[in-house]
Amino acid sequence: MDIRLAPEDAELRSRARAFCEQVLMPLENECEEHDGLTPESLERAKAQVLEHGFAAINHASRDGGRGYDVFQQVLIEEEWGKATGALWDIPWRPSIPLAVATEAQKDEYLRPACRGERRDCYAITEEGAGSDPTMVRTTAVRDGDGWVLNGTKWHVTSGDVADFLLVHAHVDGDPAKATVFLVDRDLPGVRVVRTPRYMHTFVFEHPIFALEDVRVGPDKVLGEVGQGYELTKDWFVEERIMIGARTVGAAARALDLSLAFASDRVQFGRPIVEHQAIGFMLADMAAELMAAKSMLYRVAWQAARGGTPRKEVHALASAVKLVCSETAGRVVDKAVQIHGGRGYMREQPVERLYRELRVDRIWEGTSEIQRMVIGNELRKRGAGAYTGWPET
Ligand SMILES: Cc1cc2nc3c(=O)[nH]c(=O)nc-3n(C[C@H](O)[C@H](O)[C@H](O)COP(=O)(O)OP(=O)(O)OC[C@H]3O[C@@H](n4cnc5c(N)ncnc54)[C@H](O)[C@@H]3O)c2cc1C
Repeated sequence: MDIRLAPEDAELRSRARAFCEQVLMPLENECEEHDGLTPESLERAKAQVLEHGFAAINHASRDGGRGYDVFQQVLIEEEWGKATGALWDIPWRPSIPLAVATEAQKDEYLRPACRGERRDCYAITEEGAGSDPTMVRTTAVRDGDGWVLNGTKWHVTSGDVADFLLVHAHVDGDPAKATVFLVDRDLPGVRVVRTPRYMHTFVFEHPIFALEDVRVGPDKVLGEVGQGYELTKDWFVEERIMIGARTVGAAARALDLSLAFASDRVQFGRPIVEHQAIGFMLADMAAELMAAKSMLYRVAWQAARGGTPRKEVHALASAVKLVCSETAGRVVDKAVQIHGGRGYMREQPVERLYRELRVDRIWEGTSEIQRMVIGNELRKRGAGAYTGWPET
């Protein structure tokens, strides 16, 4: 078994690190102080995404993406996750279900999105449908050869900068006919109800959208009628592994900052790192992070090289998201404690990470939902996915 990074992957990671340090991190204070970026800063950052070759890292090169596999994407997102303000969301990664689009849909949506000319957002959640998407009330009803959509979607991340939505709706109100529709944001009947404030600072917003008698053509179904859950599941798998990557990166930054601070800060005549209570906190942070990162890389490697059944990758992605986000939560909590009063100041990255990593235990399926997925896997196929090891 050889666990070393291939030279091209190590080089990719260095490039991602440089992009984070040179492009994203310099924007952190602006983002924190103004709760977002000016249009000029955002445009400059977008130009740098293209210059650095990080547009659409998750899509095939034939569609205008960079064609990186899941493992390579993890290496990149781990570096970007170190930036606060969710600045990692500036480099666009069009939702992966767009890969099943028809050629005409790709020309209209995916390819311009890969070029950075368009941007999508994914609207599943509703007031009454969160962990249980079968409760979705957004309907799509036939209208001639097209469709009419009605419903309200909550927490639509980057809905403020997106110009089209992937809307998870139930055809005729039937959960068995869950379907994803491509909906242009400027269509009549698409309306932002309000833009709530959230705990974290996030470079983009998460508006609530109303869809009121929105008419779309027959060519706006992504995939097939009834394929909605499968497409949304593909999105979950990819995003859960990427949350693993970003939370591990963020927690590693918090550990580095805490170690540096504890080595420098003198109380009771010696650096606080020499007080065992602080040293033990740092030790737990490092050991837990090593465990989470090892698991993340193993699952990303399995997903990238293929051969693992899709259902098993889904079950493994849940474990990655659960362990990495929960570990990162504990690590940033200790990081704040080690920084003392400074750790409570918004100008400190550890304070921002503390607020910003909280959502990673909630979105893309809460920790409880990940445990449900893992429990289902155990009941259906036993513990092998988790306790075994790939042999070939
Ligand atoms: C900042 C932010 C951005 C988001 N972005 C998007 C987005 O872009 N697109 C999108 O569609 N959604 C988005 N979401 C929604 C997110 O995915 C949901 O909030 C999440 O899935 C949980 O749903 P809920 O909030 O309705 O909580 P609920 O489902 O109401 O859950 C409430 C609590 O009950 C627990 N619970 C629920 N069912 C069970 C059960 N069976 N067993 C045990 N416990 C259970 C949950 O774990 C949780 O603790 C976002 C949310 C946030 C906060």
